[in-house]
Order: sequence, then C-alpha cells, then structure tokens
Amino acid sequence: MKFRGGLVTAALMALTASTVPAMTQQKFVTIGTGGVTGVYYAVGGAVCRLMNKSRADTGLRCSVESTGGSVFNANAIKSGELDFGLAQSDIQFAAAKGEGQFKGNANPDLRAVFSVHPEPFTVLARKDAGVAKFEDFKGKRFNVGNPGSGTLSSMEELLRQMGWTKNDFSLAAELKADEQGTALCDNKIDGFFYGVGHPSAAIQDPTIACGAKLISLTGPAVDALVKDHPYYAKATIPGGMYANNPNPTETYGVLATVVTSANVADTTVYALVKAVFDNFDEFKKLHPAFAHLEPKDMIKNGLSAPLHPGAIKYYKEKGWM
Ligand code: GLU
Repeated sequence: MKFRGGLVTAALMALTASTVPAMTQQKFVTIGTGGVTGVYYAVGGAVCRLMNKSRADTGLRCSVESTGGSVFNANAIKSGELDFGLAQSDIQFAAAKGEGQFKGNANPDLRAVFSVHPEPFTVLARKDAGVAKFEDFKGKRFNVGNPGSGTLSSMEELLRQMGWTKNDFSLAAELKADEQGTALCDNKIDGFFYGVGHPSAAIQDPTIACGAKLISLTGPAVDALVKDHPYYAKATIPGGMYANNPNPTETYGVLATVVTSANVADTTVYALVKAVFDNFDEFKKLHPAFAHLEPKDMIKNGLSAPLHPGAIKYYKEKGWM
C-alpha cells in the first residue's frame, strides 16, 4: 500500500510538474496598431478584448500597442518584436513581395490573417485654404504622413503617379496621425492625407473643431493607380458622416488587414481568429467602421501574403474554405 501510495504521489507530482505550470503560464501576444485616434487602435482593442475573454483556456494575454502604422508593423513582425499587426493591403503586398520601399527586404514569412474595414485615402483641408481639389495644395503646407505609416507610403506613390514631389508643397510635414487634426485647426498646415477607416476620431475632431473640409481625390493619376494595382479600389466617404461635410467624397483606397509571421504558433493564430469569429456580432459592435464586415470577404479580399495555417484551420472548420 505504502509503495502504491508512493507511486501515486510520484505520478501526481509528475503531472503537477508537467501540466500545471504550463496551464497557468501566460503567453503575451502583442498587436501593433496605429495612432490612438485612428481605427487600427480600435481593431487591436476589439481583438484583444475578445481574446482575453478566453484567457483562462488559452493562456494567451493580448495587448495593444499604438505605433507609427503599417510599415512599422510589417517591419516589427519581421524582426519578431510584434506577433500581429495591422497593415494596409498595399503595404502587405509590398512587404510580402519585396516591392516599393521593401525592395531587397521582402518578408517571405509574412502571413495574412484576415482583412478588416476599407481605408479610403482621406484628404482634409482647412475651410479657408482655398482648396477645392487635391491639385490646389500645390505650394501649400501639407501633412504627407509620419515615417512608418502606410499613409506616407501611399502618398508617395500618388505623388509619383502625378509627377509631383514633396517639393511641390511649400511644406511637406510628417506629423503623426494623432497630431495632424490639431495642426490643421491651429493653422500650422493647410491639409493632410490619411489612409483611415470611417468614421474616425482623427477626421471627426477637425471637422467639428474648425469646420475642416473633405476633398475628393479623383483624376487620371488615381484612375491609373486603381487600374494598375490589385490592392487599390475606388471608394466613397458618405455625405453627412462628418460635421460640415454634407456631400459624398469620391476617392480611392485600400483595405486594412491583420498580418502575422509564419513563426507565430498555429495555436496562437487559431485562438485570435476563433475569438473574433466566434464572437463576430460583438466584434462588429465594437466600432462603427466594422458594421459592414462579412467573414467571407475578410478571409479573401486584400490578402496577398499566404494565409497563416492557424487561420486556415479555423476557416476550414467553419466550412468557409
Ligand atoms: N492606414 C494607416 C497607416 O498605416 C493607419 C490607420 C489607422 O491607424 O487606423 O498609416
């Protein structure tokens, strides 16, 4: 009996040593987003909120980091600093294929998880700037986006296509997304460009505070960009979405996407997509920019990097693939 008891105790101790610490050990998962007045930060917050509800089962503790945006996130995923990040679909494409600013620096391990809301390129002008169309910003003070943002990268592609450089502005400022609205109302800049979902506090604040105007982004350069690149599409910002802007604004844009690395465990990626899609109605209510999302589009549109196997596992279980 004594001997048997000893065995049981030994067996129990072995079990304790091998399984209990593994279950109580927390693994930290970080999602890189953008400025706090943008929509990426809200996506990260929504994903983490849902992931953390099943923390006791998964052992995963999700947290959100405010970052410079898409390009920073893509680079930080490559270096292993971030597990997940938000990235514009044009940046996902360039990072996966080593194009544009990622030339010679492709990330073959970049993996798509799903796409989220559309991000129309949004141009906002001071109401007294004398600007009716984008070309009117020639010789004016314009915020082109901060280093590390997808916004700056997309702006540069548009300027190239138009045959412009940053020198066509009297000032090409690189303020962060969270700073540009205040700078506009304080008369430090005449306008800015921002690839962002709608509605967004970054646009709402200056339209209310100083009557800032949305400016359409149309013409031959935009037509050529949309025709030549799979990650661009025409977009409309509905009239009345923002104060003092009753008419629709025609522009073009990208999709926001969630990306990760092939080096992130299948179980971690599976836990993230399960948290979002098992609680999809709740997810959609966490930000008005998510209201029109459909899972069948999210697992396909705007994704140029291969899907992560952990995501594929869940999508197959759901019969979506
Ligand atoms: N699309 C923006 C960028 O990568 C960020 C938008 C946001 O934070 O919602 O620069």
